Parts: sequence; C-alpha cells; structure tokens
Amino acid sequence: MAPDLKASARANADVLLWQAPFRIAVAVVAGGVAYLLQQASLLAGAGSGLLVAVGAYVAFVLGLRAVLRRTGTAGPWVVGGVILADLTLVFASTVLTAPAGRYERILILAFVVLQLAESYFGGNYAAIGLAAVVIGYVGTLGVLLHVGWNIDWPDAIWSLALFTVAFASFIARYGGSRRRLQHIAELFDDAEEGDFSTPYDLAADRNADAITRLGQAYNRVRMQLASMVLTDPLTECLNRRGLDQALAREIARSARAGSELSLLAIDVDHFKEVNDTYGHMVGDAVLREFGSLLTQTARAGDIVARTGGEEFSMLLPDTDPAGAYRAAVRLCDTIRAHEFMIGQRRLHLTVSVGVVSATGMSTDAAGTHMRVRADEALYAAKRGGRDRARVWNADTPGELLATSTSAARPHLV
Ligand code: GH3
Ligand code: MG
Ligand code: MG
Repeated sequence: MAPDLKASARANADVLLWQAPFRIAVAVVAGGVAYLLQQASLLAGAGSGLLVAVGAYVAFVLGLRAVLRRTGTAGPWVVGGVILADLTLVFASTVLTAPAGRYERILILAFVVLQLAESYFGGNYAAIGLAAVVIGYVGTLGVLLHVGWNIDWPDAIWSLALFTVAFASFIARYGGSRRRLQHIAELFDDAEEGDFSTPYDLAADRNADAITRLGQAYNRVRMQLASMVLTDPLTECLNRRGLDQALAREIARSARAGSELSLLAIDVDHFKEVNDTYGHMVGDAVLREFGSLLTQTARAGDIVARTGGEEFSMLLPDTDPAGAYRAAVRLCDTIRAHEFMIGQRRLHLTVSVGVVSATGMSTDAAGTHMRVRADEALYAAKRGGRDRARVWNADTPGELLATSTSAARPHLV
C-alpha cells in the first residue's frame, strides 16, 4: 500500500473505532424504541424481525471493532462494508416498521447515513453509497411488490430522483467545503515546516463563507507567523530554519538559471572571552550589533542568518567563488575595523569565514552539502589562525584561497 493510502487506512480505522459505540447505541436505542412502539401497536409491523436485524448489526459492529483493534487499519473494502451495513440496517428497519406503502422513510434515513459517510470518509464513499441506495431502493420495492405491497412506481421513482439530485448537490457543495478546509490544513502543515509562501486564495471563493473568513484569518497572521518562525529574535536576522528555506529556494533558482550560488559561514573569533570578560548581556548586545553590521554589509539580494550562538551565515546569489571570497575578505576587514561600543569603551573583534560556491545543484542534499562544506572551510580558517577567509576546495578543503592577517583577540581600546 502507498504511504498515504496506509495513513488514510489508519485514520479510517481510528474513526470506525470511536464510532463503534455510537453505532451500537443508536441501533439499540432506535431499534428498542421502535420495538416497544410496535408492541404497543403504535408502529406498524411486529414480531422479532426488528430485533434480529438490530442484533445482527450490533454483532457486526462488535466483530469489526475487535478486528480493527488488532489490525489498526481499515482499507476501502472495510469502510465500504460498514457503510453498506449501515444502509442495510436502515432498509431492513424501515421496511420492518413502515406501514405498507410508506417506503420513502428509507430515503430520509439513508440521507443521514450517506451524509456521515461523506463527512468522515469522503465524497467517493458517499457516491458509492448513493449508488447502493438507488439499486437497493429499486430492488427492495421489487421485493415488497412481490410480497404484496402496493407500490406506486412513478411516485417511488420520483422520490428516488429527488433524493439523488438533492444528495448529489449536497456532495458537490459539501465536498467543495472539505477540499477548501483540507487546503487550509495543508497551508498550516507547510507553515509548521516554516513555509509561508502560499496564501489562501481568496479570489477562488466566489461566495464568501465561514471558510473564506478562516482563509482571511490565516492570511492576516501568515506574515506574523513567518517572522516568528523564521527570524532570530536577538538579531532579527533569519534563523537556521529561515536560512534552510532560503538555501533550498536559492539552490532551486540557481539550478534553473545555471547561476552560481555562494554561502559564507561566519564565526566570531574568541567570542567566549567577550562573555567571560563582560558578561552575557554585553555579549548579546555585541551579537545584535554584529548582526546589523552584517546586514549593512550585505548587497541587495544577499541573505543574512544567525545560525547559532555567535555563528552567522550569508547566502550570496549569483556570486562565483572569487566574488564570494572578495565579499568574505571585505567582511573580515569591516569587522576588524569596527568598534563595538561597550559603554564608553570600544571593543574590537575579528571573524573567520568559510566560503563555498556551487552551481547547477538540484538534489535535496545540496543545501546540507553547502553548509557542511562552508563549515569545513570555516574550520580551516580557524586552524589557519582566525581573522581570515577560506574557500572550500574539493581536493584540499579550505586551502584554495586565504587571507593572512594577524589573529587578533577581542580587545578593548
Ligand atoms: P573561536 O574563535 O574558536 O570561535 O572561539 P569562540 O570562543 O568564539 O568559540 P566557541 O564556539 O568555543 O564559543 C562560542 C561562545 O559564544 C560560547 C558562548 O559563550 C557564546 N555564545 C553562544 N551563544 C550566545 C548567545 O546567544 N549570547 C551570548 N552572549 N553568547 C553566546
Ligand atoms: Mg567563535
Ligand atoms: Mg562558534
């Protein structure tokens, strides 16, 4: 079975399991009341036929429950079988309690069964159930005619036609609502994965209803959710999730355009000493300033993210290794020259940068590869003495290009 069929078979089994006590209760209560009314001659029909029908149905539901508890899945045949069992009970109990000629009650009760089938299992099951009702209704009337009921065929067929049209339009209307709700559920699933790119399509709702309002509400909170889920609250740069998403998007774009994409892994040198010397609060303030410095350094289209404590990344679309290396060296120079203000004092920092470039990648693992390689180049820059950039190279990782500057420790001026 395909994975989503398996998932829906499990979901269907869950629904059938919680429905089992309700099925039994409805059958026993309705059957019991009808039987008592029959005994008091307030309802047509008599005898044990109704009890037998209800008993058989209850036994079926109990057996089904035992099987489902063991297997945990309910495929299409099981679900179809349950709907047919429901309809059979409706047909049998109606015929056993209706005065001769009052067979339309079957259609009223069948509507309820099919409506529930639609709502819990979907339009396909409801449509098959509808076909079963049409065939069963004509067949039942044939049998009733045979046993001496007076069947008004034109009237019966007219009732059946009205029922069919009414239910088919119900499926069309209700099925549409289900699909729209399903679509909103998928938007929330995407949002959970950090993907807020798709808004609810309000233009597709010609007649606004409660679902449209739900879609509008989603669209209103979409941007707020996106910023909550994708940005780092300290620096307001993207967070790791935001970077992963941007990386996937830019890799796909560079694969389409055949352009080069570069990634810088940036780590503040000896940052622990900043915390140890001045405390975490100062460390946080420095990180905030560092983040805005990176954002100012970035060109339009570049993406800045804080991917860890004092680790940042920059994604540079349409940038080849030489260009990315120049950007990384410029960044090292900018940070080295910058004075981070701590009260009246000025703090100097340096960074190490790992650079990786790629072109025409389209595999799912491309983003991970780029990140791992940028980190390898970053560690090479650290090993090489810090305050420098290194470019990842397949043969000698981190050895292709390097700046060489003094490896200054954070120091106050
Ligand atoms: P290296 O040059 O090897 O990168 O040395 P380092 O001290 O910067 O590196 P390391 O990864 O060993 O330590 C990172 C430090 O960054 C540890 C912690 O004190 C600090 N840090 C991590 N996250 C935060 C944060 O959110 N706020 C503050 N203030 N400090 C943080
Ligand atoms: Mg560090
Ligand atoms: Mg670090």
